[in-house]
Amino acid sequence: MIQRTFSIIKPDAVKSGNTGAILAEIEKGGFKIVSIRKQSISKKEAEGFYAVHAAKGFFDSLTTFMSSGPLVLMVLEKDNAIADLRKLMGATNPANAEEGTIRKKFAESLEHNAIHGSDAPETAAFEIGYWFAGYELI
Ligand code: GDP
Repeated sequence: MIQRTFSIIKPDAVKSGNTGAILAEIEKGGFKIVSIRKQSISKKEAEGFYAVHAAKGFFDSLTTFMSSGPLVLMVLEKDNAIADLRKLMGATNPANAEEGTIRKKFAESLEHNAIHGSDAPETAAFEIGYWFAGYELI
């Protein structure tokens, strides 16, 4: 089933000059880039995006990191996009990420882990709508 997912190239990977290399991995993985935008986000915008993690001890650090510099927001499309992107990304902690995954290649640490990808259809719908307007997704 053709599906859409939401992804971010996080500030660590943009800063280290890996935007293009990560986009290449995504395209090699068979994803179509439906929409893409490089921008910086505010701490408040990061807090709204990661609201599900508000009670976690790392919430302040995570949202400070995500608002620390430019990132790349994307909507991606392919068959089984949500699960396939999670597979291509690798485990949250790069120390546990499988060989060949984006986090294995580009992540610096558990927090500075290069890429975000939605984890379920409901999350993807919320995240796409949080960052992109309908007219940007045609
Ligand atoms: P994901 O779905 O693989 O991105 O992982 P989660 O939804 O569990 O966590 C969201 C993001 O928070 C991760 O991608 C990391 O950037 C960060 N994160 C997760 N766990 C920790 C942690 O224990 N400490 C810190 N500092 N950051 C974390």
